Amino acid sequence: MNDMTSMDGLRIPQPLNLIAGEWVPSRSGRVMPVVSPIDGGQFAQIADSDAEDIEQAVASARAAFAEGPWATLSAAERGRLLARLAARILEEAEPLARLETKDNGKPIKQSRADMTILARYFEFYGGAADKFHGELIPFLEGYDVAMYREPHGVVGVILPWNYPAQQIGRSVAPALAMGNTVVLKPSEDACLSGLRIAQLALEVGFPAGVFNVVTGRGDVVGKALSEHRGVDFLSFTGSPEVGTLVQIAAAKNYVGCTLELGGKSPQLVFEDADLAAALPVLVNALVQNAGQTCSAGSRVLVQRSIYDRVVVELKTRFEAIEVGPSDESVIMGPLISAKQQQRVERYIAEADAPVIARGRIGSAAAAEGFYVAPVVFGPCDPASTIAQEEIFGPVLCVIPFDDEAEAVAIANGTDYGLVAALWTRDGARQKRVAKALHCGQVFINNYGAAGGVELPFGGVRKSGHGREKGFVALQEFSRIKTVVNHYG
Ligand code: NAD
Repeated sequence: MNDMTSMDGLRIPQPLNLIAGEWVPSRSGRVMPVVSPIDGGQFAQIADSDAEDIEQAVASARAAFAEGPWATLSAAERGRLLARLAARILEEAEPLARLETKDNGKPIKQSRADMTILARYFEFYGGAADKFHGELIPFLEGYDVAMYREPHGVVGVILPWNYPAQQIGRSVAPALAMGNTVVLKPSEDACLSGLRIAQLALEVGFPAGVFNVVTGRGDVVGKALSEHRGVDFLSFTGSPEVGTLVQIAAAKNYVGCTLELGGKSPQLVFEDADLAAALPVLVNALVQNAGQTCSAGSRVLVQRSIYDRVVVELKTRFEAIEVGPSDESVIMGPLISAKQQQRVERYIAEADAPVIARGRIGSAAAAEGFYVAPVVFGPCDPASTIAQEEIFGPVLCVIPFDDEAEAVAIANGTDYGLVAALWTRDGARQKRVAKALHCGQVFINNYGAAGGVELPFGGVRKSGHGREKGFVALQEFSRIKTVVNHYG
């Protein structure tokens, strides 16, 4: 199958890597199966690459950075290429969405939304490429001090499987906008959309070697990329455990990295909340992507005076959820893999809290697919395993609290700090609590589930460090050189 294989009208390069503008098999010739979570069936193959393939990809990215046409393109021309890619993605949004759904299992509506957001990243960073630049610093008489903003060079991007296409927009787009070249290592569990996006980038005119993709196993390809001495910066999105390894590798090579890791994000519902507005958002913040969202609202903290009311409402809503095979009507599809399904089922079986509600797996769901019905537990002990650990599946913990101080203490009482929300009409409380929460994003009377493209996003502590999205990502993907000129 060493060719472009037609799938849903798309010619997907498989099982191939993209290196120096060429589609090439892994040096070893090894391949890996691609399985659809919808029915557990194999439908494609990807290259099972190793350190030799990374060696070639980094050399290609280095050559493109230092020598190729990329090195002399103006920021405006780079921006134009990003904008062209955004337009191409929008033209192909529907088949790309269908491919993403088959590969990842997410409901088709979610995949469509993901493609719109992916295009928006390339639009946003295309427009920003020539507007984020250096400065002159006033200094002593007779001096000109210029602060140049320069690309790092070769950026290694390692991504997870939960939003495979969207995350390319989040990290690759700002890296390219600032003039870096990229070696992307997508997740072995969902990487077909990434291969297609790289193919579209070539089609719209990105020079060879600027955007390379190498597929394969994390502990082989991801490890080789993170440890490679030719990589100047690393952008990692994934689990805290692997993030730690990536950060150690970066430190050994004295290069910087951003870590976008997990979360156990709380939503604080106070007794004065507009429950009609809050309830559908509380449900969606967990159900979206079957709970496999780093910013999933997986803990709902409810003031005791309205606890019973909220529990009744959650019960009704969650019991109405039918999990199914990702077609138009479904709001929750399967999990990514049998491994993830077993992991989530283990958390559910070992949970030490009463079950408030359980959704159902619909009859259309294939027995071989990786489906898990959503479960709501409560009241949960804030210190218990299900209330502390990131499950990355459709499991919601409901936790009562008495007052604001207790709510904040529970909210801040995990190792994570990615996103939080508070539901209250009290303006002073909105400000106090938003300030007291330890995390990277706070939503007041809404929940962004990772927020918009323009909004800086990232964590504290076990949720990682560095910020992506918005203009601040351009800071991460560039560095400053100060040039002091004494002219007289
Ligand atoms: P993971 O850490 O297992 O894998 C992420 C990527 O790292 C994959 O491409 C994998 O192949 C690679 N990898 C694995 N071992 C490696 C190694 N030794 N060296 C280098 N790379 C290696 O994570 P996952 O299971 O794909 O994704 C789930 C996790 O990602 C969750 O914890 C989730 O919260 C997190 N996540 C965070 C964000 C965010 O923005 N904060 C977004 C999405 C997912």
